[in-house]
Amino acid sequence: MVAPDEALQLVVDASSPKPPCKVPLDQACGLQLAQDIRADRDYPPFHRAMMDGFAVRSSDAGKKIKIVGELAAGNICTKPITDGECIEIMTGAPCPLGADAVVPCEDAPQTGQRVSLPDKICTGSNIAPTGSECASGTVVLQKGQTLTPIAIAVLASLGMESVSAMRRPSMAIITTGAELVGPSKDLTPGKIRNSNGPMLAAMVQEMGIGQVCRLHAQDNKESILGTLAETVDRDIVLFTGGVSVGSYDLVPVALHDFGAERIFHKVTQKPGKPLLFSRKNTQLFFGLPGNPLACHLCFHRYVTASIRRMQGKPQSPEPLIGRLESPVHPKTDRTYFVAACARADTQSLGDWLIQPLPSVSSADIFRSCPANCYAEVPPGTSVITAATKLPFTWIGNAPWSH
Ligand code: AMP
Ligand code: MG
Repeated sequence: MVAPDEALQLVVDASSPKPPCKVPLDQACGLQLAQDIRADRDYPPFHRAMMDGFAVRSSDAGKKIKIVGELAAGNICTKPITDGECIEIMTGAPCPLGADAVVPCEDAPQTGQRVSLPDKICTGSNIAPTGSECASGTVVLQKGQTLTPIAIAVLASLGMESVSAMRRPSMAIITTGAELVGPSKDLTPGKIRNSNGPMLAAMVQEMGIGQVCRLHAQDNKESILGTLAETVDRDIVLFTGGVSVGSYDLVPVALHDFGAERIFHKVTQKPGKPLLFSRKNTQLFFGLPGNPLACHLCFHRYVTASIRRMQGKPQSPEPLIGRLESPVHPKTDRTYFVAACARADTQSLGDWLIQPLPSVSSADIFRSCPANCYAEVPPGTSVITAATKLPFTWIGNAPWSH
C-alpha cells in the first residue's frame, strides 16, 4: 500500500516524455512545441491598410481630391500617388507608394470620382507598417510552450503545414469482466452494461488523444495475456476491473507473467484502493478499479498526470482550497476523495465553496454525475464539519456551470 501522493509521484517518475515528432497543424493544438519558431519575414510583410477607405497623403487634409484607382486585398499598386490624388483601398491591401494614411470611407464623403478629406489626418493612421507586428528572424513561439489556436494561426501565417511537437502517448483500454454486456445485446440476469469503457475513452479524448485501442478480456489469464499481446505498441495500457482480491481478479498475475514490473498495487485512498501500476520497458500499465467512480478518480488523479508528463507538459496546477458547504462523513481511515460541486463564493471574492455529493459507494456514478471537482479529505477524521477548508482539483475541463 502506498499513500496517494507517493503513488502520484511514482507514476510521474515512471512516465518519461516521448521524443518529439512532426505533427500536422490540424492535430497540433494542445501539444508542447519542441522547437523555437522564428518569423521567416516581416509581419505584416507590407504597409497594410487597416480599414476600407482611401489611401491618401496626410498633407492633403481638408482638401477635395481625386480618386485615381482602386486597390483590393491581394493586389498591388505600382504607380505612386502624388498631391491631390488618392486610391480607394480595401482592408488588407498594401498601401500604395506616396500614401501615408488611410482615411476610412465613413470620414470621407465621396461625390463621383472625388472625395472630401477631414481637416486633420495623422500620418500613419489606419496603416500597420511593415514589420510592426514582428520583425523577420524574431522568435515568435518558444520551445516548450503549449500550442493554442492562436499559436496555430502564427504557424499557419508562416506557411507551416506541420510542426515539431511532443507527441501524444498512444493508449489502449481493456475492460474485464464476464458480467459486462455491450449496448446492443440483451441483458440476462446478473449482467450489466460496460460503462467504464466509454467513460475512459471519453476521458482519454478529453486529454486530446483521439485514437484509442479498445479491447475486452475475459476473466482468465490467457485472455488477459492475449489482449496484452495486442497492445504491445501502446505507450499506456489501461485495464479496468480485475485488479482487486477476488478469485477472478487476474490482471495483476497476468501482468506479472507478461513480464511487467509492479511499481505499486493498492493505494490508501477511497475510492480506488485496488489501483495497480506496472511497467515493462517504456510501456506503462494501469490496473484501474472496476467500480466506476473509483475508475474515474484513478484516471483523474494518476493517468492524467502520466499523460501530461509523457507529453512534456507541466503537471496540473496545485489544488485550490474551498470551504465545505455541508459536512462529509468519510467512513474510512484512508484519504477520501469526494466528488463535489465547487463554485465561486459570491460573498467573498476569490474564495470557493464546495458542495460534496452524497454518493452511496464507489460504484455510484449517478449521484456523482454533476461533480466538477474532487475534494481531498485527509485520513483519520470521522466527520468533517461544514465550513472546513479542503483542497480540491477540477475534473476535466471544469470549471463549468451547472
Ligand atoms: P472488479 O474489480 O472486476 O471486481 O469489479 C468491481 C465492480 O466494478 C463490479 O461490480 C463490476 O461489475 C464493476 N465493473 C467492472 N468493470 C466494469 C465496467 N467496465 N463497467 C461498469 N462496471 C464495471
Ligand atoms: Mg471483474
